[in-house]
Amino acid sequence: MERGRGALGPALELVHTGRAPTRAVLTAELGVTRATAGAVAAELEALGLIRVDARPTAPAGSQGRPSHRLSVAPDGPVVLAAQIHADGYRAALVGLGGRVVATAPGCMTVPADPSHIIDAVVGAGAGLLRSSGRRCLGAGLAVPSAIAEPDGTALNPLHLSWPAGAPVHELFTEALAKCGVTGPTGAPVPGVTGNDVNLAALAEHRHGAGRGARHLLCVATGHRGVGGALVLDGRLHSGSSGLALEVGHLTVNPAGVPCHCGSRGCLDVETDPLAFLTAAGRTPGPEVSLLQQSRDLLRTEYADPSVRAAAELIVDRLGLGLAGLVNILNPDRILLGGLHRELLEADPERLRAVVADRSLWGRSGSVPILACTLDFNSLIGAAEAAWQPVLDDPLAALA
Ligand SMILES: [Zn+2]
Repeated sequence: MERGRGALGPALELVHTGRAPTRAVLTAELGVTRATAGAVAAELEALGLIRVDARPTAPAGSQGRPSHRLSVAPDGPVVLAAQIHADGYRAALVGLGGRVVATAPGCMTVPADPSHIIDAVVGAGAGLLRSSGRRCLGAGLAVPSAIAEPDGTALNPLHLSWPAGAPVHELFTEALAKCGVTGPTGAPVPGVTGNDVNLAALAEHRHGAGRGARHLLCVATGHRGVGGALVLDGRLHSGSSGLALEVGHLTVNPAGVPCHCGSRGCLDVETDPLAFLTAAGRTPGPEVSLLQQSRDLLRTEYADPSVRAAAELIVDRLGLGLAGLVNILNPDRILLGGLHRELLEADPERLRAVVADRSLWGRSGSVPILACTLDFNSLIGAAEAAWQPVLDDPLAALA
C-alpha cells in the first residue's frame, strides 16, 4: 500500500465530493493504474470511510461489466459542526459527503462572554454524539466575525455583544475537552474555527452551487450583516492573516446609515435583513430571527408595493457592491446566500442588470449569479474544515 498512500487523500476527496462515483472514474481522475485505484479504494473501505459496491446493477441496455460503485460509508465517522449566529446556535454531526446526520438548534440571546454559548453549542453536539454512537474525528465552529489567523480570535463580532479579539479558537478547544468530545486516540478532537460566510463558500464549492467554479465569489447575509468569501481553485482565499474579503464594509450608499465599523452606508447595514424590513416600513418583532422575518415578508407580501420597492432598493445597492467586486476579483461565478438568495430569486433580472450595467467585466453578462443551494451551508463548511486533515492524510488522521 505504500505506493498508493499519497493517493488516499485525493481519492477520498473525489468520493467525498461526488466526483468519483465509480472505480473507473476514480482511476481516470487519479491518473493511476486500475490496480492502484482498486487498492486505494479497498484501503479507504478498510478504514471505514467509503463503501465499494463490487456488484452494482448495470443500467438497462448498457454493454459490458459495470464498474464498482463508490460512495461514502453510510455509518462512517462524523465530525462535530457548530455555528453561532446573532440569534443563538446550531450543532450538528456531519459525515463525509456533507451529509448532516443529526442536528440540534438552540435559540438564545448571545451573552457578552463567548464561553457560555460556545460551551452550550459544544454540549449540544456532544449530546448528539452520545446518542448516535458515531466515531468523531474532528470539530469545526462557524462564527459571524472575521477570524484572525493563526490565533483564532474574533476581530469584529459586530452583531454579537462579544468583545473584539475574543479567543474563540481557544474557548472552542477548551469546550471540546470539557464536554469529552474525543477522537480515535481518546484525546479531545482538534477544533477549527472560521468565519461563517467563508465556511459557507467552501461548502457550496464542494457540495453545492459552486461545484466546478475556479474563482468563486460568495456574498451572503447572516441573521445580521453581510459577509463575503472567495474560493480559488478549491481553497479559501483568506488573505495574509485570515481577514480577506471583508466585503460587508464596501460603501454602497455614501449618505446612508452609520455602520458599526465607523463608516456609513456599508453593504453590511444597507442590504441585510434589518435594512430590508426597515425599508419596507416594518418593525421587526422579537419572536423569530430577522432573517426569517424578512424571508417571510418577501414570500408572502411581495405583491405589496412597499415590500416590492424595498426589495428593489436593496437589490440595487447589492448590485452596486457586486459590480465593484466583479471589477476587482474577476470571478467566474457569484453565489448569493441568506436574504440575498431570496432577493435574487424574487427578481433575478434586476440584480443581473445592475451588475452588468455598473461593472467592466460584468457588462457582457458573462458572470453567472446563482443562489446558494445547501441548507445550513455554514455548518457544512465548518464540517469541511474539520474534515480537512482526514482528506489530506486519512491514515495519519485515523491512527
Ligand atoms: Zn461598515
